[in-house]
Amino acid sequence: MTGPKHSCGVVGMSCSDDVAASIFRALRMIQHRGQESAGISVFNGSRVVTAKGTGLVHDAIKPDDIKALGGKCGIGHVRYPSGSAKAEKNAEPIEVEIMHGVIAMAHNGAITNYMELKKKYLDLGWSFMTDSDSELISKIIGKYLTQNNEPVKAIRSMMAEVEGAYALTILYNNRVFGVRDPYGFKPLCLGRLTDGHMLASESVSLDIFRGDIIRDVAPGEIMEITADGFKSYPSQTPCQKAHCMFEWVYFARPDSMIDGIEVYDVRRNVGKILAEEWPAEVDLVMPVPDSGRAHALGFSVGSKIQYEEGFMKNRFVERTFILPDQKQREASVVMKMNPIRSTVNGKKILIVDDSIVRGTTLLKLIKMLRDAGAKEVHVRIGCPPVIAPCYYGVDMKSRDQFIATRYTLDEIREQIGADSLGYISLEGLVRAIGIPESDLCLACVNSKYPTSIPGETHRFQSKLQDKYQ
Ligand code: AMP
Repeated sequence: MTGPKHSCGVVGMSCSDDVAASIFRALRMIQHRGQESAGISVFNGSRVVTAKGTGLVHDAIKPDDIKALGGKCGIGHVRYPSGSAKAEKNAEPIEVEIMHGVIAMAHNGAITNYMELKKKYLDLGWSFMTDSDSELISKIIGKYLTQNNEPVKAIRSMMAEVEGAYALTILYNNRVFGVRDPYGFKPLCLGRLTDGHMLASESVSLDIFRGDIIRDVAPGEIMEITADGFKSYPSQTPCQKAHCMFEWVYFARPDSMIDGIEVYDVRRNVGKILAEEWPAEVDLVMPVPDSGRAHALGFSVGSKIQYEEGFMKNRFVERTFILPDQKQREASVVMKMNPIRSTVNGKKILIVDDSIVRGTTLLKLIKMLRDAGAKEVHVRIGCPPVIAPCYYGVDMKSRDQFIATRYTLDEIREQIGADSLGYISLEGLVRAIGIPESDLCLACVNSKYPTSIPGETHRFQSKLQDKYQ
């Protein structure tokens, strides 16, 4: 089983000129959201056509593919690496042929009643090519479209069946839609370009076209874009916001705005609050690059302790987080980061990272710093202890994986070899983000899930965990 995928990136575009090259560029701006595969679908005037493949956007989609994808509206996807052997099969957009045409769909998120729904439809005689929840969502939309050929109605019917996290872009013949689940777990923004309109997981995709962000798609809203405008189909039932806090802490680019709030500002606030909550007497503050950079800068500003770049990162090493076993993950951290001896030798150092999950990264980094002559190594973390699995699409699969469910704060400090350790408080994190706690999903740090999590999903997730542990 490859299972529900994780925080991916989606794009949708409708313009007065061909869009494939622009979607390609927009996807490259959100490449950090997924490196396993990428794809683009456009409507070429008579049908939906798709080019997709494995690897980074420029490996998956070649210049000849873009030439062949002539069309003024389309969607795109980057898929998060899940360590899956079936990367090719799971690449998106997914196409579904129905009586009135073809739907292509790109999905970011994970649905929580996947197993229940899949069983229901298997019993009705449906067949599936993949274990991906995206295929299920697109087929359910296809079922309703076949019945009524009314895309908004069909999407709403799908939303009434599917539970969990989804930000979707959908191409149905020459129409482009964006959809956000009723909690708004995953980001999706709407923007204006000089010759059209765009939907994207992050506002950085708009920036390269000097586009303007109009607003974020609201929880439960369906948004249709055309070259000339956009049309909103708001949710017909009340929605409770539950934006994923991990977007601001780790996932999104610091230069993106998520739900109206600049990611960089949040990370800087986190660092400042950490300096209040966990002061330290040290010579330098250093980030764990890249994600800890703005956090460390905030700590330096808040504490007035000098900021230094003491690690160099090798950008060409694979993502350590998803490697299948602990030995590989540890070896990969060493290849990925190297300390700058002259900066750290003889110094008392404080390093800031966005999060601790298993503790692999910090264990290795602290050892490296000590080997390079650091006198003391203190650690500050921009996210409260991760204690609960994410069922909404962030790759944190099982409780036993988390160091914070097995050890106390002092034991974790000892395990990773730090002189002191401090995590930001939940209250501090909420203050740093600047939106009410009730509008955030904090399940991975407080175990309070905004939706019910069916038992089948628990079992499915633990199977995945067995595979990657
Ligand atoms: P660990 O080494 O297992 O403690 O993981 C924490 C490190 O991985 C931090 O440096 C984070 O930047 C990064 N990280 C945290 N969560 C994720 C995730 N879901 N996917 C990929 N990387 C992550």
